[in-house]
Amino acid sequence: MTNNNNIVVFPFMAQGHIIPFLSLSLQLEQKGYQITFINTPLNIANLRRSLPPSSTIRLLDIPFDPVDHNLPPHCENTDSLPPSRIFDLLVASASLRPAFRNILKNLVDNECPPFCVVADFFFAWSADVSHEFGIFHVTFSGAGGFGLACYYSAWINLPHKNSVSGEFTLPDFQEAGKLQVSQLTPSLVAATGNDPWSEFQKINLPLWGNADGFLFNTIENLDKVGLSYFRRKFGRPVWAIGPIDSPLTDTSPTRNTGWETEKLLHFLDSKPTSSVLYISFGSQHTITPSQMMQLAIALDKSNKSFIWVVRPPLGFDMNTEFKAEEWLPENFKKKAEEENRGLVVEKWAPQLEILSHKSVGGFMTHCGWNSVLEALSRGVPLLGWPMAAEQFYNAKMMVEIAGVCVEVARGVSFEVMSEDLRVKIEEVMSEDGKGKEMRKKAFDIKTMIEEATRDEDGFKGSSVKAMQDFLQAPLLIKKQQK
Ligand code: UDP
Repeated sequence: MTNNNNIVVFPFMAQGHIIPFLSLSLQLEQKGYQITFINTPLNIANLRRSLPPSSTIRLLDIPFDPVDHNLPPHCENTDSLPPSRIFDLLVASASLRPAFRNILKNLVDNECPPFCVVADFFFAWSADVSHEFGIFHVTFSGAGGFGLACYYSAWINLPHKNSVSGEFTLPDFQEAGKLQVSQLTPSLVAATGNDPWSEFQKINLPLWGNADGFLFNTIENLDKVGLSYFRRKFGRPVWAIGPIDSPLTDTSPTRNTGWETEKLLHFLDSKPTSSVLYISFGSQHTITPSQMMQLAIALDKSNKSFIWVVRPPLGFDMNTEFKAEEWLPENFKKKAEEENRGLVVEKWAPQLEILSHKSVGGFMTHCGWNSVLEALSRGVPLLGWPMAAEQFYNAKMMVEIAGVCVEVARGVSFEVMSEDLRVKIEEVMSEDGKGKEMRKKAFDIKTMIEEATRDEDGFKGSSVKAMQDFLQAPLLIKKQQK
């Protein structure tokens, strides 16, 4: 450990970015590093409330007024903006550059130059600013290697533009195999190379090469294909340090009362091993009214036990109460509960506790990377229903590389048929055949993850070793420069 042990951490202003950065910060804090966590004032105020009281993480405001960028007042996080305005926040975030420079300059002038800057891939410009002060800079991704590699390559190459069939490969990432236009987000499908999103990416993506290295919340042996893309593309070290636990999902938005959690666990206790299907589409996504109906019918017909986390379907105010009698088949919720077959939970469930329970045998997920890692760490196979961002590629990786997932639908415009869903649910939940095979593979991955994070005398797993190598890297560079 050096005297200079201050690490500056700087995520983009979205919960999906802030949470993994905070989890990483807590891990680095435990190793004795002093963390300076930078974000815009409202995000910092929120973090102050969720940080454990004993934490020494220093939360630092970076000045930002959304109104200056024609954004609504107080909207400093993607979660307070409609999807159509998220891009505007991304563009506005580039204006943080001079203030970020000032922060680093102050730290350097006050004789506590940071040991390292860990920044978001949307803040690729921060590498140049860090290097101006001779500070080591790494890009951290809460997304996995494969998902981010597909994302990067698709944006850099826009290969789907030349595809007549709707199928294409990524020219510089052929190992990813075939992709379909239905696996791209609307902004990517619409990208011409000259539209605002493309213009932003044309500036941002090439700057990734300025980082001194990349940190990924993933596991080397699981994600080799994706990680090798970045090694090849940028010739920089790539450290797979995951899975980074996210203790804050347990404590921060605790939207379940103790009573609700108790009820869920009691339900799971009453069920046989690997017999319950858990369904959740992450912290912000939902499905359409007709998809919701079809899923409910499929659950009814499959006769499998389930826990389903619901929020109002697309087109309804997410903050209103869930109307089971309107959005689900008549009596569905009541009957499932009375028969002790299924629980419909509103908005939020204690996911880690549910996935850790031995009665859970499958997880229908939108394939957000945190959800994927949480399931894999517990040996739970997946039914993938990707909705946005790099989730489509995560699902692809889980199906084709990991072999632990059956994809059931894509996005909210996919026409879901209850019969098709039922077949896929029964396939994954079955005690023999494909279900058994997938469960075995998921168990092997769980063991692989345990190995990667094992830290004992004489043995260091790949993630432990990667974290050590990352923390050594700034020191090695300094030595070489002397
Ligand atoms: N989560 C949870 N309960 C819920 C929904 C989500 O605890 O009802 C947690 C989940 O455990 C995960 C995070 O929220 O850690 C969701 O992250 P992910 O990357 O899967 O998806 P996102 O919400 O970013 O789309």
